Amino acid sequence: MDQVNLYRKVLAEQGAHCGCQGACGKDHSGTCRAGATGKPVRLITAPYPPHPSDAANAAAPPDTYRPWCGPCWGNALIAAREALADTNEKRMTAAQILLFDLPGAAA
Ligand SMILES: [Zn+2]
Ligand SMILES: [Zn+2]
Repeated sequence: MDQVNLYRKVLAEQGAHCGCQGACGKDHSGTCRAGATGKPVRLITAPYPPHPSDAANAAAPPDTYRPWCGPCWGNALIAAREALADTNEKRMTAAQILLFDLPGAAA
C-alpha cells in the first residue's frame, strides 16, 4: 500500500482527528481529537506509539498507524527518543558496574 492510500485508509477507519491517547506526554483524558472540533488541523498518519528511529517508524506495520496532529507526533517522538536514551544510559551504567565486579578487576 502506498503512503497516500495508507493515509486515506487510516483517516477513513479511525476518523480525521488526532488519535493520540497521551503518548505525547499530555493528559488528553481520552484522545487528543485535534481536528474533531471543526477547526482544520493538518494530520499525519504514523505508528502508535512512535518508534525512536525514522527507519523503525517507516517499517512499522500499517495496522499500527493512527492519525496524529503535528504537536502530538512531535512530542511523542521526543518522548520515545528520550526513553531510548534513558534505557541506553541504564545499560551503559549496568555494564560499567559489571566491569568492576569482574573477578580480578579489583585492585
Ligand atoms: Zn494531538
Ligand atoms: Zn497527544
